[in-house]
Amino acid sequence: MTPAQRILELRAQIAHHNQRYYAFDAPEISDADYDLLVRELAALEAEHPEFAAADSPTQQVGAGALSTSFDEVVHRVPMTSLDNAMDVAELEAWGERVTKGLAGATARFVCELKIDGLAMSLRYESGRFVQAATRGDGRVGEDVTPNVATIAAVPKSLPAGAPDVLEVRGEVYLPLAAFERLKAAKEAENVERVAAGRKPDPVPVNPRNAGAGSLRQKDSSVTAGRGLAFWSYQLGEVVGGPDFTDHSQSLEYLRTLGFPVNPEIRAVGTLAEVIQFCQHWQQQRHTLPYEIDGAVVKVDSLAQREVLGFTSRAPRWAIAFKFPPEERTTILRDIQVSVGRTGRTTPFAVLEPVFVGGSTVAMATLHNQDQVAAKDVRPGDTVVVRKAGDVIPEVVGPVLSLRPAGCQPWEFPTICPCPLQTELVRPEGEADTRCVEPSCPFQRDQRIIYFSGRGAMDIEGLGENTVFQLSDAGLLTDAGDVYSLTRDQLLLLDKWGDTKADNLLAAIEGSKQRPLPKVLTALGCKGLGPSASESLARAFGTLDAIMQASEADLATTDGVGPTIAASIVRWFAVPSNREFVEKLRVAGVEFGRVEVSRLAQNLAGKAVVVTGSLLGYSREQAEAAIKDRGGKSPGSVSAKTFAVVVGAEPGASKLTKAEALGIPILDLAGFEHLLATGELPPAT
Ligand code: NAD
Repeated sequence: MTPAQRILELRAQIAHHNQRYYAFDAPEISDADYDLLVRELAALEAEHPEFAAADSPTQQVGAGALSTSFDEVVHRVPMTSLDNAMDVAELEAWGERVTKGLAGATARFVCELKIDGLAMSLRYESGRFVQAATRGDGRVGEDVTPNVATIAAVPKSLPAGAPDVLEVRGEVYLPLAAFERLKAAKEAENVERVAAGRKPDPVPVNPRNAGAGSLRQKDSSVTAGRGLAFWSYQLGEVVGGPDFTDHSQSLEYLRTLGFPVNPEIRAVGTLAEVIQFCQHWQQQRHTLPYEIDGAVVKVDSLAQREVLGFTSRAPRWAIAFKFPPEERTTILRDIQVSVGRTGRTTPFAVLEPVFVGGSTVAMATLHNQDQVAAKDVRPGDTVVVRKAGDVIPEVVGPVLSLRPAGCQPWEFPTICPCPLQTELVRPEGEADTRCVEPSCPFQRDQRIIYFSGRGAMDIEGLGENTVFQLSDAGLLTDAGDVYSLTRDQLLLLDKWGDTKADNLLAAIEGSKQRPLPKVLTALGCKGLGPSASESLARAFGTLDAIMQASEADLATTDGVGPTIAASIVRWFAVPSNREFVEKLRVAGVEFGRVEVSRLAQNLAGKAVVVTGSLLGYSREQAEAAIKDRGGKSPGSVSAKTFAVVVGAEPGASKLTKAEALGIPILDLAGFEHLLATGELPPAT
């Protein structure tokens, strides 16, 4: 393809995506993929100025064409777009252009968050809100006054003395909480629609599109219920108002008039501080209750802005520093199910690998059958994939306009994907579909992975892939077999040498000394997690004591309760589970210290806070003494604290709080009385 052909192709593609995005609020590709197209076009046009065109999307603001459903509003001062910097080098290059444009004069900058919403112009005449308009193509926007009038954050009247005409620009956006509410409501509606044999509705993909869709409603009562909000960041046309020399002064003025101005905005003196601001918010973006897709850096001095001026679509005095994308579109190749250690099956998406949120994503969980139905994602679909911060990647939903013809809804499998192919069951009223075959090899492998994991026996080198390899080789029928693995067996496996085998065997040997709570957790009994295991170990001391304990005894242990107690008793009643425990015993796994005399659990249910140092006890010993008697020893004082034990040099805040809440304060003698009797000393 010649450059000229590619330029025409890109212009046509971008025009199409502009229309999907601006006119229908229903993009077919992610912003990041769109930005790549625009960048490629801009680079080609720069290389081949002979093909430049005034109507190229690189020269225009917005869609270039408006949807027809709203009245037109002509902007008296054009609403421009922003140029982008994708990284620090591009930001620095912009800084240099600014300095050059100002003939070497220094500039101050205002750093703002780039709110991911919809640009809006608000017009006030004689202090009253009279009109709201979208940006449109920068020259003509859409009249959305009745809808914007429903937004609580938009002032409807201004204090006395406001200018005759005041145009305020800013971003209308959907806060994350409002977006989640809307999404949950749509998903719940879809579950009902699907159950009733109807087609699911599209689920909102992100706050930006949901916000734009909410705003551009024909019926403003729909907008009113969505919870849109507003941040103002710029003055437009002003008649009869004060004169300002700096942008930051105008923001302050907007604040005094009652407009919401983002509290994170900072005025800084150097580009280094600008970079710091951008990098800080790139890290911290998820701490905000709304979405941002970058930072906007603006020259503060209005006189300097005059000097720098505009290109055809954006000011030269501002730049948007864009954060790396957290959403991309890709192809959903397939939906498969995995089987967990309890037999629960989880559908997951197999994706055409895509780089998003800082890593390549090829798989993403789809949680359960209802979630797949609610999102209506089908193999073959183009889907939006999102990976934000540390959150696991998510398939947000399909791009319906790109769905291939004949693409069928996905059906949950009826048999387990393991070689035994047993029938799956979905118990009445439950969201999960399960494999209930105890000998299912997929469940077994997951149980072994769990057994060996960090929170349990913590066997280094026995991760997922090794478990699969050992189990495929027929060396593991349950986690107990781990202890009979031999060096010779391991050396026969593909890619296993002396060091790897010896390291694994040493790690397995070391795991025999794990403390009882870890061993209990490793058993994989339903409900018996780390904290219940810890309580049981403290209360009973050994695994044998727990196995022999009655359900009632287990249930009265702090942090255990009747459900877990019943589950434990059921678990130990299963012969294969008892055999498994015996296998561990024979292998030499430590089952807990043998208790000679069990301490009375006289502090059960009581929280005793220790602060300062006590004669004869280290902090750990004091806390252990409390826990050995069934009590808890949290690190802070609350209304639920039973007593606070105060030694030398106590923490001032704990002491003050205890006094304020009227919680008994004990000295060493009082503490020893408490340990012995479980009661407060008489004088307290
Ligand atoms: P832009 O979003 O990169 O920057 C300009 C906009 O930033 C302003 O109009 C304003 O709405 C907003 N903004 C937020 N905070 C601001 C602040 N503090 N100060 C000033 N402005 C602030 O540019 P654009 O022209 O609005 O849109 C282009 C972007 O839209 C693309 O980068 C792309 O991400 C997205 N887009 C996506 C598709 C698609 O198909 N996915 C299609 C078209 C456009």
